Amino acid sequence: MRLILLLACLLLAACATAPKPQVSTAPPIILISIDGARPDYLDRGATPVLSAMAAEGLRGSLRPSFPVKTFPNHYTLVTGLRPDRNGIVENNMEDPAIPGVTFKMSNRAAVGDRRWWDEAEPIWVAAEREGVKTATMFWPGSEAPVRGVRPSYWLPYEEAMPNEARVDRLLAWLDLPPAERPRLLTLYFHQVDKAGHDFGPDAPQVAGAMAEVDAAIGRLVAGLKARGLAANVIVVSDHGMAATPADRRIFLEDLMPLDAGRTLVMGAIMTLYPAPGREAEVERALLKPHPHMTCWRKGEIPPRLRYGRNPRVAPIVCLPEMTWTITTREWVAKAKPELGSHGWDPDAPEMAALFVAQGPAFRRGARLPTFDNVDVYPLLARLLGLRPQPGDGGPRLAESALVR
Ligand code: AMP
Ligand code: ZN
Ligand code: ZN
Repeated sequence: MRLILLLACLLLAACATAPKPQVSTAPPIILISIDGARPDYLDRGATPVLSAMAAEGLRGSLRPSFPVKTFPNHYTLVTGLRPDRNGIVENNMEDPAIPGVTFKMSNRAAVGDRRWWDEAEPIWVAAEREGVKTATMFWPGSEAPVRGVRPSYWLPYEEAMPNEARVDRLLAWLDLPPAERPRLLTLYFHQVDKAGHDFGPDAPQVAGAMAEVDAAIGRLVAGLKARGLAANVIVVSDHGMAATPADRRIFLEDLMPLDAGRTLVMGAIMTLYPAPGREAEVERALLKPHPHMTCWRKGEIPPRLRYGRNPRVAPIVCLPEMTWTITTREWVAKAKPELGSHGWDPDAPEMAALFVAQGPAFRRGARLPTFDNVDVYPLLARLLGLRPQPGDGGPRLAESALVR
């Protein structure tokens, strides 16, 4: 008898603390990222579906956060914190507290290791804590149990997975019985970023990649319609893209001996660790004025870039002038040079990212100005009815975008 009583008490206690699963009839929220898509890519005649969504709903643009890279900005979009505070300070980074590991997008173990992501709380974690089910059809951070919580449904990143399969998986999640159905879903497409790097932002291949992604979003829209679902769809990008002319290269070996430091990132931004004992030599070489580049010690980066306080930021950060890249002759000889890149100043118009939103919660037919991408998280929180964690963004985008 006592055992039964004890069990009953334990059960009651568990019920009291576990979030009650929310069975909601509210429209699903679908956050779609088209990596590397600039707002002006909608004007290339390649995107009938997105253009119709923009015409029915909202169209605007997002100023990315520094550094203008994929992982840092995807994490900013879902946490409302700039990279210096969300912990994903670059696509490639090191942490003195996680010795011997270099975080890279291709390092599957690191990408799934919560220690890299735990400095911030993505919106799906906040939602799951409140009993709201979430599903990620890829998103940086979604493969790790951040602060111990994963999306209810997620898949390990697989670039080769066809767009149609990504969309069909998302629709299958929406077909789950109401108690299991996710309310917040993400979807990710990489093809536009790849075409921009390989061919440059103005190439026909970029319009071709936009058309491919547009068709996939068309498949999603048709699937939602067939199910009678009026979703709130938000289409964003992490950053834009600019051309990288071959005559605008800064060769690091012309500035310092290459063995005086170790670079973790090169191109449209450079991060560098001076070799032990050679700090002064590296600083003398890099911190002086250069015609097409500015370098800083991490503690002296201009405040407007909001970068440099995180222990994961490299000791030296260099930012080339727009369209210039930092590289080495050896790298140019061995790698196929990219015709497009990103990583420059987030204020550059070419670095701006796409924003389109459509659905019952959004105003119709409005064009919005540029918002900082930290404002997307408070918008998502409001759509989900969650109190946003205090962060770097504000209610501005939500107030402009949502029906009052
Ligand atoms: P970037 O080098 O900043 O242009 O990053 C773009 C690349 O990030 C694309 O080629 C994607 O395949 C890759 N990527 C996007 N999401 C993930 C992920 N969750 N895991 C690993 N790689 C990813
Ligand atoms: Zn990207
Ligand atoms: Zn890219």
